[in-house]
Amino acid sequence: MPKKGTTKKEAYALLRGMKDILPNDQRYWDFIMQRVQLFARNYGFNRIETPILEPASLFTRSVGTDTDIVSKEMYAFVDQGNEKIALRPEGTAGVVRSYIEHGMFNQTQPVKMFYFSPMFRHDRPQAGRQRQFWQFGFETIGDQNPVMDAQLIHVSYKFFAELGLPIQVDINSVGCPNCRPGYIKALATYLKGVKKSLCEDCQVRMTKNPLRVLDCKEKGCQEALVDAPQIIDHLCQECKDHFVQVLEYLDELEVNYNLNSKIVRGLDYYSKTAWELFEVGKDGQQDALGGGGRYDGLVQQLGGRPTPAVGFACGIERAIARLKSNDIAVTPVAAPQLYLAQLGLEARKKCLSLYETLLGKGYTVAESFSKASLKDQLEQANKLQVKYSLIIGQKEMVDDTVLIRDMESGNQEVVDFKKIQDYMAKLLRSEVKNGRVED
Ligand code: AMP
Repeated sequence: MPKKGTTKKEAYALLRGMKDILPNDQRYWDFIMQRVQLFARNYGFNRIETPILEPASLFTRSVGTDTDIVSKEMYAFVDQGNEKIALRPEGTAGVVRSYIEHGMFNQTQPVKMFYFSPMFRHDRPQAGRQRQFWQFGFETIGDQNPVMDAQLIHVSYKFFAELGLPIQVDINSVGCPNCRPGYIKALATYLKGVKKSLCEDCQVRMTKNPLRVLDCKEKGCQEALVDAPQIIDHLCQECKDHFVQVLEYLDELEVNYNLNSKIVRGLDYYSKTAWELFEVGKDGQQDALGGGGRYDGLVQQLGGRPTPAVGFACGIERAIARLKSNDIAVTPVAAPQLYLAQLGLEARKKCLSLYETLLGKGYTVAESFSKASLKDQLEQANKLQVKYSLIIGQKEMVDDTVLIRDMESGNQEVVDFKKIQDYMAKLLRSEVKNGRVED
């Protein structure tokens, strides 16, 4: 919407809860993407990107109609073709749709995929909570072995731990369709007894989706839950054995985990293992860096054959916020190797084609072709921390030469235009070799 009172024509401002990712921040995004790609390669995950728009029913059917994500936060609307569609609030449902649609069950199982994509939730914007945010997620589809859960928990843990962040995994089992209903019944009975102490939302949740009361952030609700039954005591033998094995693998991998009976995750499709990642000393649901779980029923629920699966997603803005608040160095964008400066119309023309030649040779080259003043151009080169400027002015045009300026020492050398490529190759090669150029 245009902002009021700025100029005669009102300037536009971002929609609430949306953020620009500005050029200055791109190095953080590149850094996270590079780390994600490194982990994906090391652990055998291939990238998948599904559309931002999907049928709204994909999410109501998978995430669940009584979850906050779907009932309150989903951007859903009817399009020009009268179809009810939604901006995806999470990544797993689309990946599973794609797995089914493209017959990935015919590939060697499990199929391991990752995504790096924007998500949309019409949540109340606040610190660490946006309406468009990005997640990277890893999914392992087609294997029920607890070692797969452990591998993904380990990957999500190691991703942050290797950045030097003190990370803790809070882990729980949410059971399966055999044992969870018994637990939900016991929990619902307990919640009836403490109803008066619950917040308004939880008084609704306790009938619609009692599990969600467990991860309510309200202090009163948490206090009322102190004596609540724990799901761990209600797990069937299969879920119990599965969970114990996951924990044993995590011990082997030296993952710093903490059993937390309140981790139920916000989505209906989870079964068995569920986990969230926190920076130690900064718990509170809002600060979760990521979370995941097993979703053995989802593929079938969305029309595929019964296929076990497990996955996790991490918030990229929150990861970047931690990089910044912990002063974690990300690789700075390398300065261009060369700067091409020109003086006069003819020189500018000559520089345009020289620029293309240098790029073609693989050099990184900066320029300000629209600037006329040499002083301004060299200032720009200094600002960019370029090592060498190549200058063509009127004299160089007449002599068919190029002036090479070492931006650090200020030394200048005149080089025959035809020899410029050999000269630069030698200069930059000897620089790599010696750390400094002598001749
Ligand atoms: P979830 O699947 O809801 O647990 O989300 C996984 C991760 O995505 C969270 O741990 C956050 O890091 C991130 N996330 C979820 N919702 C938001 C949001 N509204 N704004 C920013 N990041 C979010």
